[in-house]
Amino acid sequence: MFNEPKINEKIIDGHLHIEAWKNDEIGSFIDAFEPYREGMELNGINLCALNNHASGVANNIMMALYKLAHKGTFAHGCLHHTSYPISEIVPEGMDLVTQYKEMMEIGFDGIKLIEGKPTCLKPLGGTLLFPTLDEVFAEMEKDGTHIVFHVNDPDEFWDADLVPAWAKESGWFYGDGTYPDFKAVVNEIEAILNKYPKLNVTFAHFFFYAKYPDKLEAMFEKYENMAVDITPGGEMYLAFESNHDFYVDFFKKHSNRILVGTDATFPWESYTHAWCIDRLYHFIATDKVQMAYCDRNLTGLNLSGKDKENILFANFERRVGKKPKEINKEKLLAYFEKYKCLFKDGELEELEPLVDKYLR
Ligand SMILES: [Zn+2]
Repeated sequence: MFNEPKINEKIIDGHLHIEAWKNDEIGSFIDAFEPYREGMELNGINLCALNNHASGVANNIMMALYKLAHKGTFAHGCLHHTSYPISEIVPEGMDLVTQYKEMMEIGFDGIKLIEGKPTCLKPLGGTLLFPTLDEVFAEMEKDGTHIVFHVNDPDEFWDADLVPAWAKESGWFYGDGTYPDFKAVVNEIEAILNKYPKLNVTFAHFFFYAKYPDKLEAMFEKYENMAVDITPGGEMYLAFESNHDFYVDFFKKHSNRILVGTDATFPWESYTHAWCIDRLYHFIATDKVQMAYCDRNLTGLNLSGKDKENILFANFERRVGKKPKEINKEKLLAYFEKYKCLFKDGELEELEPLVDKYLR
């Protein structure tokens, strides 16, 4: 069904999203990635819930239902913020630590935080150093729970002369003085990691540090469980290509800190996900020169053995688990009943029939 051949090696896509109820190709979101998974013979997919499209609680329920519908699916749940800016005053029993514990009981495999993306951080109040968030970091460090954490965006998005037109059109120009500064957010992350140095955290999109590998390396040295994924961001691949020999060594040296992800998003069509995982696979495991992001050439790093395995699947398994957690249907139903009062328009109508089918 795709132009790309199946990948004849073990691989887990660690970073996917569901942002729509249906599309023309597949129908319901409940089967969103099955043609992709089967077509490319992936060994696992990890759905990452977001609180900036659907309500966070509805997106969590979508992911948990998907896990029930399709064995072998991992999912990272998100926190739902009951007010913007973030506040310590929340409806009773809906504080962030309670939400976190509920998700762990339901059977989520980790937590996705989009809170560090400028468009999310600004309405939350512009800082990640918030007491109720801090409590969740403490719990996650104690439990060893894996986090996929989106922090910042490419630093040229703060620069009026360098921001790409497509980013500006998406509302991702941050240089107008109303967004937190790139470096200020990095400082906050370091403050969090200094307080919770064992956090099992994977920063999405290479922490937007592909131009600054020395800084990334310094963080790796300081924080033993920190990792990054190479989910595009095409800008990251331009940096890898322009510094190819250096990055061959860097990926070998830090192969235990790098994970694969595509950002495959439903309702995009399946061939786009297949295209992306094919590019990532060849980038890691072969020396193929391929047309890739921004229509530029991308030369494969040609890693082998442990280095290749770490990045394609083993790091994910070590950080998250070899098998997805089972969903506790009773807990998921209780979560649905408790939080449906926070749904956005239309979410109850979409979810109710699926809750009937899978949970009642
Ligand atoms: Zn993403």
